[in-house]
Amino acid sequence: MKKHNFYAGPSILSQYTIDNTIDAIRNFAGTGLSLLEISHRSKEFTAVMDEAQALFKELLDIPAGYEVLFLGGGASTQFCMVPYNLLKTKAAYLDTGTWANKAIKEAKLFGEVDVVASSKADNYVFVPKDYTVPADADYFHITTNNTIYGTEIRKDLDSPVPLVADMSSDIFSRPVDVSKYDLIYGGAQKNIAPAGVTFVIVKVDALGKVERPIPTMLNYKTHVDKGSMFNTPPVMPIYAALQTLKWYKQLGGVKELERLDKEKAAYLYDAIDSSKMFVGTVHPEDRSIMNVCFVMKPEYKELEKDFIDFAGTKGIVGIKGHRSVGGFRASLYNALPLESVKVLVEAMKEFENKH
Ligand SMILES: *Cc1c(COP(=O)(O)O)cnc(C)c1O
Repeated sequence: MKKHNFYAGPSILSQYTIDNTIDAIRNFAGTGLSLLEISHRSKEFTAVMDEAQALFKELLDIPAGYEVLFLGGGASTQFCMVPYNLLKTKAAYLDTGTWANKAIKEAKLFGEVDVVASSKADNYVFVPKDYTVPADADYFHITTNNTIYGTEIRKDLDSPVPLVADMSSDIFSRPVDVSKYDLIYGGAQKNIAPAGVTFVIVKVDALGKVERPIPTMLNYKTHVDKGSMFNTPPVMPIYAALQTLKWYKQLGGVKELERLDKEKAAYLYDAIDSSKMFVGTVHPEDRSIMNVCFVMKPEYKELEKDFIDFAGTKGIVGIKGHRSVGGFRASLYNALPLESVKVLVEAMKEFENKH
């Protein structure tokens, strides 16, 4: 049966990405060797790295003065690398959920952290908007898409200090004005590649301003100076990332991806809003177009488990909500076709009619 993959991460990748990666694992660039067993310093792989960085810059229209890095360690390592490299005395953070909290915890190891606002008391069902970012902060850290709670900041905020953003789960879902940011990072396993590679877009001029010594591997400058080749990079996930970027370019780039993502999200949110059984969990103005969180209304609550089983009979996988929200979460990443969303909505209607 055809599967409809709504997992939050690792998550669906394009068939183009998977097929081309399999081909390269069998025979990489005509070398007669597998992508898995070739030097990262071979001319064939350095060409992959160069092309992936160039295409990343092209698709997001990244201005001069920024570099794109492909590192290990996940977005979670960025929670410490960011303050290690950029926090001189004080940083501002916006608390919009679990991932933001993890970033805040690490930043506190390096200096003063001003949490300018939090929606924690409301279980993060909205993104706080009423706050002031101190003008003497070294940077203002935001999580643009809250993968667990299903809220999203879909614009580039105006901030008196440079922005730093965790865009793990909404990179490539809209055009971004990179010039507003000193740094953007994310685990690639939501919208780009299999797990194992982390992307970092960094403004080179923002580096080298802290006085503390920084361990070599945790120093962005090391990786900028060596073009992400200081040590062995995650070769296979980077290759897969390049395939996804090529596929994005063929589709028409980030503007077209945004149009498709909005269409999918609207289709599902409309079905939720017109249902007598299901209800969305977040404030409509902050709804994520990547992770759609919803639950059953109190009078149907005991049917939630049954719906997950019913959806499974239609090939729908990965819709169980995160334990901190419950209910359901449908992740609509770029590689998920509208057709899968239609199958989910059809299943919701069929289930509702039965009960
Ligand atoms: C998944 C996710 C992370 C964690 O990424 P790892 O690569 O597992 O460390 C961090 N932030 C956000 C917003 C995420 O969605």
